[in-house]
Amino acid sequence: FLPHLIASMEQVEETYVMVKPDGVQRGLVGEVISRFEKKGFKLTALKLFQCPKELAEYSRALQGSQVQVILPQTDQLHYLWSRCVYGTLGYCVLAKAWEGVGAVASARKLIGATNPLQAEPGTIRGDLAVQMGRNVVHGSDSPENGKREIGEVFDALMSIIELNSAQNISGLRK
Ligand code: UDP
Repeated sequence: FLPHLIASMEQVEETYVMVKPDGVQRGLVGEVISRFEKKGFKLTALKLFQCPKELAEYSRALQGSQVQVILPQTDQLHYLWSRCVYGTLGYCVLAKAWEGVGAVASARKLIGATNPLQAEPGTIRGDLAVQMGRNVVHGSDSPENGKREIGEVFDALMSIIELNSAQNISGLRK
């Protein structure tokens, strides 16, 4: 009875997961999504997109830079994202939200440590990756960032992508 009561008091959270360009290129989208599905999370939105040029260029500028970049709070997510696409214009898959009890911490456990060499076998990075700069997947690191990433990053990226597509379409029409 008590464990059930405690479980029902635990919060249903939303987290945000992205299969990074290396994961998409290696054909690991199904594998990654499957691990979250099997765990029991509910998937609420999924989108395949090509990394926006602006983000790829920003990311490339940061690559190899050992300098600690100090950014205003509002740019933190942009910075995080740019670290996630490794300067490529590759495709990413955004899983907008996975819902479940303790989803954020649980997703991070499924994903494993940032450096795949330290990630436990059984985790996504432990099983499927070798390098930190090719670690297959991103997941929110706190419920607050989960909310922000779902709201700000997903929606902001979608609008950049839609803008780019609109420009491409008008460019094609000229
Ligand atoms: N990263 C890297 N080298 C580093 C630190 C981070 O290549 O020294 C990349 C790595 O792909 C990581 C991403 O930047 O997944 C974001 O870093 P963070 O510290 O947020 O790790 P995560 O939350 O992804 O485990």
